[in-house]
Amino acid sequence: MTISFIKTDKQRELYSKISSLADRFNERAAINDEKGCFSFENIEDLKEIGYTKLTVPKRFGGEDISLYEFLLFQERLAQGDGSTALSMGWHLGVMMDINEKRDWKEERIEQMASEVLNGALINRAATEPQTGSPTRGGKPQTMAKKEGDCWIVNGRKTFTTMSPALDYFLVISSIEDSHQIAEFAIHKDSPGLSINETWDTISMRGTGSHDLILENVKVSNENLVDMMTKRNTTPNGWLLHIPACYLGIALAARDYAVKFANEYSPNSIKGTIKDLPNVQRLVGEMDAELMQARHFMYSVAKEWDEATTKNHFTSELGVVKYMATNTAISVVDKAMRIVGAKSLQRSNPLQRYYRDVRAGLHNPPMDDMTILNLANAAFKSLT
Ligand SMILES: Cc1cc2nc3c(=O)[nH]c(=O)nc-3n(C[C@H](O)[C@H](O)[C@H](O)COP(=O)(O)OP(=O)(O)OC[C@H]3O[C@@H](n4cnc5c(N)ncnc54)[C@H](O)[C@@H]3O)c2cc1C
Repeated sequence: MTISFIKTDKQRELYSKISSLADRFNERAAINDEKGCFSFENIEDLKEIGYTKLTVPKRFGGEDISLYEFLLFQERLAQGDGSTALSMGWHLGVMMDINEKRDWKEERIEQMASEVLNGALINRAATEPQTGSPTRGGKPQTMAKKEGDCWIVNGRKTFTTMSPALDYFLVISSIEDSHQIAEFAIHKDSPGLSINETWDTISMRGTGSHDLILENVKVSNENLVDMMTKRNTTPNGWLLHIPACYLGIALAARDYAVKFANEYSPNSIKGTIKDLPNVQRLVGEMDAELMQARHFMYSVAKEWDEATTKNHFTSELGVVKYMATNTAISVVDKAMRIVGAKSLQRSNPLQRYYRDVRAGLHNPPMDDMTILNLANAAFKSLT
């Protein structure tokens, strides 16, 4: 018996609904992974329990769940299907971010909140072929040009998760003839907007993270939601949906391996492999690693929820993600060692987990940036 991260009856109630769905998604995950399909079915099931509205602010009629609760639910979802969890993480996280930062005008937040309450899905399209990860500070090549009261946006975004199901794309764009960068909320039906189905990776194959193409997309001034003057300096608590997702996948791998060890009985031994010291050591190590990463993640999330100012969180948020994604890779590796060569069979979920957790390394913030920030902070503290 370990400490439960579920703390209230309300959390338990929703957690139980999410658990039922996650188990159902788990049954669909192999086929979606094999075909590289985005699961509209999973999204519809989540909409039915009101999952996609959870981070809408209370003042606009939403649930406004805390960061802690967001991670709790996301981690459970990822145990069923990592791709669906990552997709939902962006959507719920972006809504949380918009509300928390208040960089958008209040009426724009209200408008988006109302769309989300009515079932709309949103995500940011920030990455581009030329910039790589936008967290490195590259200037978007996507360009917005003023034309009368409107803007004409042209560009190509890569890695746009959930693109087949999104209603609004939050497009990060340079403003022509200036050094400014802005965020535009662009509806999926805008003429000139299309999806190029490029997503064919070995990891997170069900995220539909295709390219977004913008060809002379005309939007009004109201669609320019943020001039993005503060974005790079403010910590992003919501991004902890990423560690929650990869820890969820690792938990699924751990559970599979423990069940396997409990049942597998080769005829070279009496009983099952659960009694073998080499297996017990791997199981204990998996649990020790998961315990560290999860307690750290939930404790930082709780601190975040309780903090009145958040500017000092950057290091901790980065280290949570660094620890979680590397722990996930290590735990899946150990789970596969326990199961042996059967873990390599295409019908075995462990090989999917193995591929999926690799993607965590390439979600923000990247490990080298987190470590460099820590080193810089260490030396700065001396001066
Ligand atoms: C499953 C998945 C889902 C995603 N979903 C989204 C999404 O919904 N929206 C979105 O906008 N993006 C999304 N992304 C993109 C993600 O946020 C990154 O932008 C993308 O993975 C590229 O990161 P990178 O580090 O490989 O790229 P790059 O920045 O091109 O880096 C490639 C290599 O070059 C090095 N490098 C490049 N520039 C620098 C530099 N300035 N300093 C030091 N090293 C450098 C890196 O260390 C790395 O080794 C997603 C990615 C994945 C894997």
